Amino acid sequence: GTENGNGGSVSMEMPEIRYTKLFINGAFVDAVSGKTFETRDPRTGDVIASIAEGDKKDVDLAVKAAREAFDHGKWPRMPGSERGRIMTKYADLVEQHAKELTLLESLDAGKPRMVTRVVDIGSSASSLRYFAGAADKIHGETLKMSSQFQGHTLREPMGVAGLIIPWNFPAIMFFCKVAPALAAGCTMVVKPAEQTPLSALYFAHLAKQAGVPDGVINVIPGFGPTAGAAIASHMDVDMVSFTGSTPVGRLIMEASARSNLKPVSLELGGKSPLIIFDDADVDLAVDLSISANFFNKGEACVAASRVYLQEGIYDRFVKKLAERMESWVVGDPFDPRVNQGPQVDKEQYERVLSYIDHGKREGATVLTGGKPCGERGYYIEPTVFTDVKDDMTIAKEEIFGPVMCLMKFRTVEEAIAKANDTRYGLAAGVVTKDIDVANRMTRSIRAGVVWVNCYFAMDADCPFGGRKMSGFGKDASMHALDKFLAVKAVVTPVYDSPW
Ligand code: ADP
Repeated sequence: GTENGNGGSVSMEMPEIRYTKLFINGAFVDAVSGKTFETRDPRTGDVIASIAEGDKKDVDLAVKAAREAFDHGKWPRMPGSERGRIMTKYADLVEQHAKELTLLESLDAGKPRMVTRVVDIGSSASSLRYFAGAADKIHGETLKMSSQFQGHTLREPMGVAGLIIPWNFPAIMFFCKVAPALAAGCTMVVKPAEQTPLSALYFAHLAKQAGVPDGVINVIPGFGPTAGAAIASHMDVDMVSFTGSTPVGRLIMEASARSNLKPVSLELGGKSPLIIFDDADVDLAVDLSISANFFNKGEACVAASRVYLQEGIYDRFVKKLAERMESWVVGDPFDPRVNQGPQVDKEQYERVLSYIDHGKREGATVLTGGKPCGERGYYIEPTVFTDVKDDMTIAKEEIFGPVMCLMKFRTVEEAIAKANDTRYGLAAGVVTKDIDVANRMTRSIRAGVVWVNCYFAMDADCPFGGRKMSGFGKDASMHALDKFLAVKAVVTPVYDSPW
């Protein structure tokens, strides 16, 4: 069965915590208020470090630095190739410091170390490299207008970007926003999540080493209603790119509407379906359902917590899944045998447990898990519910924890209807060998990404972002670069043209 979380007893190399202050205009500084907050080890609940707590005053200083760097600094004005060169150096530095960054990120967010190295730190560097290559490929169009006029478009950096990021993939989220913003020539104020500020501060230090000019990247750790809200409502922030919960996405949009109507891009929650057809390879289907729900302890906006099984495969799937879960290990993420670490903090831990409770009370059956585990820290057993009905809370609301709900369907039409029966539209998975079924599903599901016979397949070159109440605007890919660029049309008269 699942081993209990053993609360930090694994002997390990601890990272040194070097950067704990706000990063404004190229320097680490205390908060104006002098306040600090604590970031905790989710394995134990113990304090890792005290971090300077930024609020409105600090955001004002950071925006001022970013404004100055944008209006008068080199960054937006240098050739794109030069920005790309600095970004490539930045990526090299992230890789050179991968070991320390991996420890820091694993500790702050409770992630298995091996996975963090490849997924979190690895894709951070890839994202920088991808956008480094895009920095000198920003083109406009030429416009042949009426006979008296001609025009062209310029794609200019939007200005000062506010980047507000969550705690589930702190490093990836940092670079999926910072990298395209840098390539576009924007300057920025980044607010990491209060649960996980450590990697962002380290990245601020590396940016300076790489040669990113002072004021281009400012990092303000702090809380949402203070520091985050100050960014969203700031009159001198030109756009906001946010990843987080749907309710906070709504607040960000309201703050924009009430202040300067800055464009916002919102990557929000999800309740993604994974749809498994009778002809699916059952081992593949089981693997995908496990990673889609238990990877990163279910703390993933694309988690497929609605698993729909066609009737003919249901029993075989459930049997295999129960067997496979016997070798799934929950425990200290610094232990190399461990698959699943602790939830990020007490609040999330309690939220997830309350959803599990709802599931039980509303009549779903617990196939595996269903309880917290470990003597301390925020460990939860990977939980699979069967007999889940469409109207149960666990089938409708985002859980953001290791909880999988199994449901049945009969026909392709029914699968489409169920997949779309949600306010969200972030991701979906389809498992089938039938290309016609796959094509029907991929074209009918309203979501930002549909994975066929895979899940969680992400890449710097693959647009990421949802529809409906999962938000709008894309991270990754050239679409992400676009949101940091403003299109300007330039028109001149043309006299005596023969054409
Ligand atoms: P979660 O509920 O999963 O913690 P949130 O959406 O609350 O997700 O958090 C995502 C990010 O949004 C964090 O950096 C958080 O501090 C920030 N945030 C929370 N509330 C606000 C707010 N009112 N305005 C701006 N940012 C906020």
